[in-house]
Amino acid sequence: MSSKITYVTLFADESIHPSYEKALSEVEREIGQTHPMYIGGKEVNASATFTKTSPIDTSIVIGKFQKGGAEHALQALNVAKSAFKEWGALDYKERAKIMRKVADKLEQNRFRLSAIITLEAGKNRLEALAEVYEAIEAMRYYANLIEKEEGYVKRMSPGAPGEETYSVARPYGVWAVISPFNFPLMLGNGMAQGALITGNTVVWKPTSEAPLTALEAYKIYSEAGLPDGVLNVVTGPGEAFEEVFVKGADGIAFTGSKDVGMNLYRKLATLSPYPKPIVLEMGSKNPVIVTKNAKIDKAVEGVVRAAFGYSGQKCSATSRVYVQNEIRKEFVDALVKRTSSLVVGDPRKRETFMGPVINRNALENYEKYVSDAANAGKILIGGKVLKQLERGYYVEPTIVEGLPEQHYLFKKELFLPILLVAGFETLDEAINKANDTEYGLTAGIMSEDPEEVRQFMENIQFGVVYANRRGGATTGAWPGAQTFVGWKASGATGRGVGGPYYLLNYLREQARTYVHE
Ligand code: NAD
Repeated sequence: MSSKITYVTLFADESIHPSYEKALSEVEREIGQTHPMYIGGKEVNASATFTKTSPIDTSIVIGKFQKGGAEHALQALNVAKSAFKEWGALDYKERAKIMRKVADKLEQNRFRLSAIITLEAGKNRLEALAEVYEAIEAMRYYANLIEKEEGYVKRMSPGAPGEETYSVARPYGVWAVISPFNFPLMLGNGMAQGALITGNTVVWKPTSEAPLTALEAYKIYSEAGLPDGVLNVVTGPGEAFEEVFVKGADGIAFTGSKDVGMNLYRKLATLSPYPKPIVLEMGSKNPVIVTKNAKIDKAVEGVVRAAFGYSGQKCSATSRVYVQNEIRKEFVDALVKRTSSLVVGDPRKRETFMGPVINRNALENYEKYVSDAANAGKILIGGKVLKQLERGYYVEPTIVEGLPEQHYLFKKELFLPILLVAGFETLDEAINKANDTEYGLTAGIMSEDPEEVRQFMENIQFGVVYANRRGGATTGAWPGAQTFVGWKASGATGRGVGGPYYLLNYLREQARTYVHE
């Protein structure tokens, strides 16, 4: 089996469809069950459950899941602490071996996992499968990386005659991993992989919007030989776990919204008795600049894919486009035309490009933002909830022009298929506008002029930046190719997912000196 598939090559592979459809039918027959949490390899139930339904059609029940809380968080931290003694002491090569087995097992189960992601998160098949491959690729990348770095043990110079000195990177202990709904496998896994391969143990609290993916992943880790207690999965509302995680974990890895992430950051600073590491990957408000030197068809395709792929619910989604006034009309007309051709509907169907938004709350937010946009600017296309698909949460891809650039919609992460367009005269002005945000995750430029691209790369204040990407102007990062790193309010560490420095987030140095006299 090849892991050389990427987000781009996957789209051309015909053979995936029958396998995906078979897995989808199997998963559809199985769903609706009650699921436990997993602590120390054992099934654990709480006193209450919550029900998760599909955003595709709310009459589809994904399952009942445990409404865990503080006591389960505590129990899981204690178990993970005991498991740390052996796991942390294991040679890194052994850990890499186990993680590669997990990657192989994930690959064997790729269609099943993709089908689960479609059903519980509403992602179309290609996006779901791409996510599974991304998780696999990240795991193999980290296994190769820790071996290349020889477990991050470096021989240092002697400080005095007779000294033998080393810098040895050691794990912290137990990490709480908290993950969002939009990449339920890749992101929970990405953080857990980083922590686990470096010798930490993990308590994973997945989103309540996609808990089945996490529980399924847990079973795969376990079957692949990860010892009991090294990875534990607890489910339930985030707030219930907050205090125990902040006080009891040795580190916190969080991917999700800025508000929740910053709250954890502040709580960790006040409730923890000493500084603890926190890995935060948060929201954004990603811009694309289209200059008069852009190829219009490429720019349109790149922006449409990045703005409306997975209904705009990617942290890397394009949400603002700045287009040079000379080509503004031509570009906007082509953008609207291409958007009108997008197929919105049930993501289980092969032809669907854009499925539903995640839940009723997202649908209501969409209605509010669209109404505010119509009051202050002009809706060029979209703006409606699709009532004919009323059992799910379907909305139209929407493009807005003419909003004042200080309007709150230009500042706030909407996490919906709403794209704002504005004009500019000079590239300097466009870069200033693009940077005028508290966020800094992904940004793109569409220009065939190398000097413009250089100016953009030098001055843009975002962590993941692309020039002329037809497949996604700001989306589609791949482990080992594009390190996924948020600047400013988009992230805390400056060391990105799937990149050469990521594992250092989960390690602390120990300077060792042996004296030979
Ligand atoms: P969210 O912040 O609502 O939830 C994320 C997780 O935090 C969930 O598991 C939730 O249960 C938990 N949580 C909520 N309150 C908590 C608390 N008080 N204590 C502990 N845990 C708590 O995010 P979401 O809606 O699931 O995901 C969308 C957000 O994630 C967007 O802002 C998006 O940009 C961001 N995101 C960022 C990246 C990145 O790499 N930078 C990637 C994906 C998503």
